[in-house]
Amino acid sequence: MDVSKTYGDVEALIEVNLEVASGELLTLLGPNGSGKSTLLRILAGLETPTEGQVLYEGAPINAGSLQELRGRATMIFQRTVLLRGSVYDNVAYGLQFTKKTGAEVKEGVERALSLVGLSPLKDRRAKALSGGEQQRLSLARALVLNRDLLLLDEPTANLDPESLGIVKEVINRLNKEKGKTIVMASHNLAQVQEASGRLLLLNEGRIEEEGRTRELLSNQSAVMRRFTRSENVFAGDSLVVNGVSHVDIGEGTTVRAAFIREGRAIVHVPPEDIIVSHMPMESSARNSLRGRIVSIEDRDSVVRLRVDAGRVFSIQITRRSLEEMALNVGVEVYLTFKASSVQIL
Ligand code: ADP
Ligand code: MG
Repeated sequence: MDVSKTYGDVEALIEVNLEVASGELLTLLGPNGSGKSTLLRILAGLETPTEGQVLYEGAPINAGSLQELRGRATMIFQRTVLLRGSVYDNVAYGLQFTKKTGAEVKEGVERALSLVGLSPLKDRRAKALSGGEQQRLSLARALVLNRDLLLLDEPTANLDPESLGIVKEVINRLNKEKGKTIVMASHNLAQVQEASGRLLLLNEGRIEEEGRTRELLSNQSAVMRRFTRSENVFAGDSLVVNGVSHVDIGEGTTVRAAFIREGRAIVHVPPEDIIVSHMPMESSARNSLRGRIVSIEDRDSVVRLRVDAGRVFSIQITRRSLEEMALNVGVEVYLTFKASSVQIL
């Protein structure tokens, strides 16, 4: 352990100490270049650390255990390389060197395709799929191997909402129902797996924070906010009324969301989806909160406002709007956002 990895003079990982327990769901969160992919490749046994060592089942990796590790792990890379041929062929490819019979291969491939919702497209040319479908296909290619350890490099990046939902659900099921050990990287908080498992925050090659995902998300430290740049994450209790979830996030504030969830929920309101006005707005948006500006932070062409509406919200507006509306610290404003903008984590 205490693994470091350098590429020339780039320090990709600096004294990273990490233990992955069998059956756990671990998310590596961090901005681009923070070392997530490097760490995954090292865990997969595809790269060796410059310093430190990786223990596998308690012992330093040797030629024999490396072989075994590679046989039990599979990695999905950030950029998928698909083969020519059909969707079906792409999944079946991974099984061609195994001792499986034709019928077993067919059954395995069909099960993997059905899990990721691609059965209807199995005869399509793989390269003709949309981006989200290609990502689901690469997940199916890993699933068909039925390995114990899945290392997923940004499996949820750049997905359309439908594919994102499917990929998240598949990852959850593999972990919860099949007991697979999953380590996944992500640079976006909103794509983190339903707030389950353990979260590790990487920045510039170091582990900055580590803990249960739910706790880190509901009680965000300044470090966490800085790295994820995802403000407006609130934990609360949700009650469904007339098809809308009313999430009580504390301090007398309720957020209305389009998803359906009863009980504990962690919600995220993207700062760019909130409209600021001096008067309450007449609109179809379900959320209208009154608050007071507590800080204004300049970020080049955009400005970040923090508004205390019971809970403090971050809002992003243009510099021009700030000037036109004569917004200042202490000014009372209304915040308006749609129920469909509210995401569940
Ligand atoms: P992430 O996946 O979090 O975006 P990476 O692990 O890909 O981060 O990269 C961490 C750092 O290491 C970056 O500065 C990157 O440029 C560098 N790096 C990664 N792989 C290589 C490589 N094969 N050769 C040179 N530099 C690399
Ligand atoms: Mg990466």
